Amino acid sequence: MKKNIFGLYREEIEAIITPIGLERYRAAQISEWMYQRGVYCFQDMTNLPLPKRMLLAQNFTIDTAHLKLEQHSSDKKTSKLLLAFDDGAAIETVLMRQPYGNSVCVSSQVGCNMGCIFCASTLHGAARNLSAGEILAQVLYINQMLKPDDMTVNNIVIMGSGEPLNNYDHVVKFIRLCHQEYCLNLSYRSITLSTCGIVPAIDRLAAEGLPITLSISLHATDDSTRTKLMPVNRQYSVSEVIAAGDRYSKTTGRRVTYEYTLIAGINDGPVHAKQLADLLRGHLCNVNLIPVNNVPERGLHRPPLSTVAQFEQTLLHNKINVTVRKEMGSDIQAACGQLRNESLKKPYINR
Ligand code: SF4
Repeated sequence: MKKNIFGLYREEIEAIITPIGLERYRAAQISEWMYQRGVYCFQDMTNLPLPKRMLLAQNFTIDTAHLKLEQHSSDKKTSKLLLAFDDGAAIETVLMRQPYGNSVCVSSQVGCNMGCIFCASTLHGAARNLSAGEILAQVLYINQMLKPDDMTVNNIVIMGSGEPLNNYDHVVKFIRLCHQEYCLNLSYRSITLSTCGIVPAIDRLAAEGLPITLSISLHATDDSTRTKLMPVNRQYSVSEVIAAGDRYSKTTGRRVTYEYTLIAGINDGPVHAKQLADLLRGHLCNVNLIPVNNVPERGLHRPPLSTVAQFEQTLLHNKINVTVRKEMGSDIQAACGQLRNESLKKPYINR
């Protein structure tokens, strides 16, 4: 069986092309074609001699992602793609065109096992992990989309379907690849990893020496509410997760972001805002408030704007750095998992 070459470090490409008779420096040419020029056919790598291109095609494949479905918000700022791989697994990738650059939200698993009740990605569980190449393929697909406008991806958030720290090795390899000069040459500070709070993996990540931004989903200030929203809290409690966030910020010097999804009648009251401020006062962190995306299957509702504003004010009053996530793409099912769930109900034929 041919080996997939996409998603390998340049040194790994060197190691597999030299035994079939290619010079080591060819790995630089191949990685430039794949990662920087978006060329996924060996025959089109025209600075390699034809016999070498044929040798490559006989021994290797370049497995990337294929578009299954795309939706664009009416203001054209948000594009949501359903991308599929050769085994038929489909995942969602979102492009958000923001004033400070183009951000891409990538998936790290096909579905998710974590069971957060507000999240559509977990309704069918996790089918499998994505490889580093499959995560990278999402970013490169978007780069090709942006090319006609002479733009590229500026920021990556690993916040789509899946718990990235449950797919640790592939996700870390993806992050390192994005930083390589021969790949995206992206600063680590332009990458954010979002986790539901897998404490041992947060500590492991802190030790990697990657100054990426860590975003931790908190969503509640007490263990009883958090356990109802996020079953992972049975394993890693509120205080354990915040202690891990502190260790991360201490080791990396980076401010941790705590995500707090506001759900009407569950965690959006003034008392919750005060508890959150008390919990985080003095910690090197920001809070990102996210009015919940309605999940019809779970009966969860978004609080009114006035409630969101009051929650924010309470945090500001208590000197907690806070932002409210701007809603983008609500007219195109931009909440993670919704598009894939629709496709599972109704197979699309335009693959
Ligand atoms: S919020 Fe994240 S960790 Fe929780 S179920 Fe959804 S994808 Fe998984």
